[in-house]
Amino acid sequence: MTDKPLGFDTLAIHAGTAPDPATGARQVPIYQTTAYVFKDADHAARLFNLQEVGYIYSRLTNPTVAALANRVAALEGGAGAICCSSGHAAQIMALFPLMQPGCNVVASTRLYGGTIQQFSNTIRKFGWSATFVDFDDPTAIKAAIDENTRALFCETIANPGGVITDLDAVAKVADAAGLPLIVDNTTATPWLCKPIEHGATLVVHSATKYLTGNGTVTGGVVVDSGKFDWSASGKFPSLAAPEPAYHGLNFHAALGGMAFTFHSIAVGLRDLGMTMNPQGAHYTLMGIETLGLRMQRHVENAQKVAEWLEADPRVEFVSFAGLKSSPWHGRVKQITPKGAGALFTFAVKGGYDACVKLVDNVKLFSHVANLGDTRSLIIHPASTTHRQLDEAAQIRAGAAPNVVRLSIGIEDVADIIADLDQALGKATA
Ligand SMILES: *Cc1c(COP(=O)(O)O)cnc(C)c1O
Repeated sequence: MTDKPLGFDTLAIHAGTAPDPATGARQVPIYQTTAYVFKDADHAARLFNLQEVGYIYSRLTNPTVAALANRVAALEGGAGAICCSSGHAAQIMALFPLMQPGCNVVASTRLYGGTIQQFSNTIRKFGWSATFVDFDDPTAIKAAIDENTRALFCETIANPGGVITDLDAVAKVADAAGLPLIVDNTTATPWLCKPIEHGATLVVHSATKYLTGNGTVTGGVVVDSGKFDWSASGKFPSLAAPEPAYHGLNFHAALGGMAFTFHSIAVGLRDLGMTMNPQGAHYTLMGIETLGLRMQRHVENAQKVAEWLEADPRVEFVSFAGLKSSPWHGRVKQITPKGAGALFTFAVKGGYDACVKLVDNVKLFSHVANLGDTRSLIIHPASTTHRQLDEAAQIRAGAAPNVVRLSIGIEDVADIIADLDQALGKATA
């Protein structure tokens, strides 16, 4: 090996792993174990004091899970990462070291529906809250920040509608306010965008989606850039003051750029227990090996399908940043230069009824509430994920009654288009 940094596809296969020191096994073994034998009492004490890195109990760390954390950290260009039981768990784990009761996160209005739910209601149980603003408007973000704000939160590519966030502009606002920026990079993946290069402090993933890539596991990852100075403002006592939850350790003083990662393991996973299991980590490690190949095909197919739909007279409009008609088209070059992702919405002439007929008549597409699968997926938000909202709220969320969302898979694109063609025929007959 040379000193030249390794390419994305090489890291996707090799980062975080080496032949197993015990057996020589080339693939990362699934360490299906709860606990690890200490060499002696002194070794145990050193591990518990974080003076030595090692394994204690699998609620905190496990070699298979650690391999995945290190691989995702390498792909995102981070200093460290932790794996969690789901994408939603990763979001709580990202906020946990930063927040105290009474603190808030300023978040984009354009987020995954489940995240809006989690931030609007559930986090209030911890005494946290969220303020939602339009992240296309840096002045509005600035105005929403108050003395209790501890983070900004947005998605690289937000669905529905395939909106691309100007991460550089948002990071500038976060920087000026001395706050960390958390970016959910699930729908872009590090193959399309590395948010840390655009100024993100933390990157969160639902590994359930493209990282694993085939709809087999539920998982999440938080990546820390290692670049944020938690001691600068006095706003982050869990990280940069004696932490009562860990015998008064000052994580920032003891661990520098690894403070967030170690706090998340030693306190977050220890006490919240949102741990990824080794079997799940194994599936995601296997998936990530082909992330670059898959994403290349995902975005190629999505671009072709979106262009085909936009030219079809049965279609009202297509909302996809890869099309020149999108208000976010200009951001592709800046944020996701290899493509605008593979998730977008389009509107069917004939409204709600035509959309329901469309999802009932697809054959190759699967009608599911998931995204980022090798398989092409379809959902009609107004009759499913967004059915509790009234029509005005559905329209605001980009999920109007005539809108269908697609997650384009890696099948032969001619077959994807043929399926949409026949189903649109039945839907609009
Ligand atoms: C799916 C998803 C989540 C939640 O992840 P889970 O693994 O389902 O908990 C969060 N953000 C985005 C963008 C998602 O697509």
